[in-house]
Amino acid sequence: MLNAFVSFAALAIGSAQPAEEAGTDVEALLDRMTLEEKVGQLVQFNGFWDPTGPAPTGDMEERKFAAVEKGIVGSMLNVVGAEDVRTIQTYAMENSRLKIPMVFAYDVIHGHKTMFPIPLAEAASWNMDLIGQSAAVAAEEAAAQGLNWTFAPMVDISRDPRWGRVMEGAGEDPYLGSRIAVARVRGFQGEDLSAVDTIAACLKHFAAYGFAEAGKDYNAAELGTVTLFNTVLPPFKAGIEEAGALTVMNAFNTLNGIPATADDFLQRDILKDRWGFEGFVVSDWGSGREMIDHGFAADLEDAARLSILGGSDMDMESYAYFEHLEGLVETGIVDEGLVDDAVRRVLQAKVDLGLFDDPFRYIDEAREAEVLSDPEHRDVSRRVAEESAVLLKNEGGLLPLKEGERIALIGPLADDKDSPLGNWRAKAEKDSAVSVVEGFEAAGIAFDHEPGVVLETSDTNFATEIEVNMTDRSGMEEAVRAAAAADKVVLVLGEDAYHSGEARSRAELGFPGLQQELLEKVVEANPNTVLVVMSGRPLVLTWADENVPAILQAWHLGQESGTALANLLTGKVSPSGKLPMTFPRSVGQIPIYYNALNTGRPGPRTEVFWSHYMDESNAPLYPFGHGLSYSSFEYDRLRVREKGNGFEVSVRLRNTGNHEAKEVAQLYIRDRVASVSRPVKELKGFEKVSLRPGQSRTIRFELTEKELGFYDPRGEFLVEPGAFDVMVGGSSDTALSASFTLSER
Ligand code: BGC
Repeated sequence: MLNAFVSFAALAIGSAQPAEEAGTDVEALLDRMTLEEKVGQLVQFNGFWDPTGPAPTGDMEERKFAAVEKGIVGSMLNVVGAEDVRTIQTYAMENSRLKIPMVFAYDVIHGHKTMFPIPLAEAASWNMDLIGQSAAVAAEEAAAQGLNWTFAPMVDISRDPRWGRVMEGAGEDPYLGSRIAVARVRGFQGEDLSAVDTIAACLKHFAAYGFAEAGKDYNAAELGTVTLFNTVLPPFKAGIEEAGALTVMNAFNTLNGIPATADDFLQRDILKDRWGFEGFVVSDWGSGREMIDHGFAADLEDAARLSILGGSDMDMESYAYFEHLEGLVETGIVDEGLVDDAVRRVLQAKVDLGLFDDPFRYIDEAREAEVLSDPEHRDVSRRVAEESAVLLKNEGGLLPLKEGERIALIGPLADDKDSPLGNWRAKAEKDSAVSVVEGFEAAGIAFDHEPGVVLETSDTNFATEIEVNMTDRSGMEEAVRAAAAADKVVLVLGEDAYHSGEARSRAELGFPGLQQELLEKVVEANPNTVLVVMSGRPLVLTWADENVPAILQAWHLGQESGTALANLLTGKVSPSGKLPMTFPRSVGQIPIYYNALNTGRPGPRTEVFWSHYMDESNAPLYPFGHGLSYSSFEYDRLRVREKGNGFEVSVRLRNTGNHEAKEVAQLYIRDRVASVSRPVKELKGFEKVSLRPGQSRTIRFELTEKELGFYDPRGEFLVEPGAFDVMVGGSSDTALSASFTLSER
């Protein structure tokens, strides 16, 4: 019987003998395992049926269930909640010969029950402490639901906002991406992986998934090894070396023709050998099977062989290992040593999670109820949200709103309680965000509200047609009337939660539906318009930039979106976010990113022959690192001095405005001449500081060999003597610079 499990506690305690043995000695356990048991540890199934309901039907489903019931499956994903997890774990502990616990995984991407800003938005906060807290709260909630492992953080660097999964990452920069990878892994895993409020992290997608050609999800990635080593791999390396990420997920894409799932150069040479990664690699969902479509594996058996050879340890939902790995070993095609290595890694992870000591340690209904209703979690979410919004433009001090002004709050996203939750919303309830309308009401702001137009997408993941009903003009006139009658307009436009995310690539990056028409009509009716943009990616805001005096990039800010936005728009909190991705002027500029190489024709030597478009400027609309505040900041006294093996750069930062505010001081370098051409600018340090009006602070950055070196095409790290420029300021387009020379050592 499915839900007939007796006395799990007695079981856990009663099974002390093998657990103890295994907990201290993975090798001894491995020695006792049959081949079937070993392969089972490398299989991960989706929670394909209700664990407390009737048994599933259908050939494959029945076979999967039989394996789960027998207790020989290593892991499941999407089984969530103390009761369900307990049911499944009981099979493992009751029925498996060696009592090896299962590990339970879930996509805890930006919050679990409490939703935080989407990861790209959090990246815009440049606040590592808050990003870490956000991950820690998510881990606590997920663990309280019996989970041990999240498929996060996604650390894919991407330069292409057409790719819908940029919402899930940290943007375009490997340095910022690495710092954020470390903060998130530490947040999830905490000090002690076996504690009941932490979960294992998973760095994904290894590798180059964010370089999908033309921004089309799942597409091939083609890139050189200099970009691979200097741009794509650093966040993975940092997450492993500095934060000890327990697992890595490979990817759907091919990289230079080799599917990532079977890429032994990536998974064996680099990850496991060069970096010494001791955790395990899980495939992406069915990515083993997809190698057949890639024209790389002949059939599923071949896919199993190629996956294990390539270093993919656990197979998520391909059934390639489930169906074929045993046979491949028995016929001598695959060496059992490869299977042993993978199993050893999985078992060690279970030991690290404390699952052998007590397989039910995470499962506690009372703690589940208490943790999931902790009101402080929403408070953390609001604080992160307040630092994640980016003030792109604020002409004539239109913002903050002043008391007594008549406000028209317009736009389809103004009273939307769902979109701010963003995609990948785990266990958050639908419509559980504070809308802007509610945020304004709670803040006591008087306003008229008109949606103007409708924005509706299908909310099932992976749908092909996303725009459902966006042709209704019936509210337009009312909205324009309200705009004209107000002192100021706050217009909330953008994407809903499902315009971005997996399989949500877009070829056009304007406002979906009739929103652009609404924007133009509203601005014509009232030029004092503040545009609030909710989106999961950089949109092309060129028309708005030319015609709207104030723009606040609000992304999808999570459950406390409306509260945070009311605080920001009224000036209770000054915006302090900075862009983690370049905003293009037009789609044709993509990929456009700040840390690019110079061409041999960098400037207008003649009108015709410099590297440019005939119909578009080279400049982005808003550069990486850009973001305004209600205050103003001045940087001066930039000094560089030798320190130890490297340099110390100091700069004085002053709040020259009238608001207490936070600023992100950013340091960039340029290696002028090197054996591999280096980018015109590379972020190598940043610090977020809070200053009162008139207050100043000297900020110091260290530049060591780690920051001054780079990888050559073979992946060798080189530190070359010579001249460097250093640039410091509040954005990547800062003009304050100095130079120094790294001497031969
Ligand atoms: C995604 C992964 C995710 C997995 C499990 C896949 O489609 O690419 O990022 O972790 O599904 O839900």
